[in-house]
Amino acid sequence: MFLHLEGRPITDFFSGPGFLKCSRSGCTAQASVRLLWNNPRVHEPSRRKEWLACPEHQAWLTQYLQERNFFKDTVPLEEPAEQRKEHGD
Ligand SMILES: [Zn+2]
Repeated sequence: MFLHLEGRPITDFFSGPGFLKCSRSGCTAQASVRLLWNNPRVHEPSRRKEWLACPEHQAWLTQYLQERNFFKDTVPLEEPAEQRKEHGD
């Protein structure tokens, strides 16, 4: 007797609709804010890159960007309006 192992990803729980994970390496917590940043050496000045941060790592990620003069802004994480409409049942 042998077991057939399906290669089914077990990470779906953490990446389902509405779940936005913290950008800190190794962190699986849900993000609460977006950190907007720009690297003037590789990005157009008007371009904004985006990191997601959980409450625990918001300060760490903000400091990381500020030390490199990349940091621009912190904005609240909000579900896109398109997704919110789909939830009404
Ligand atoms: Zn985190």
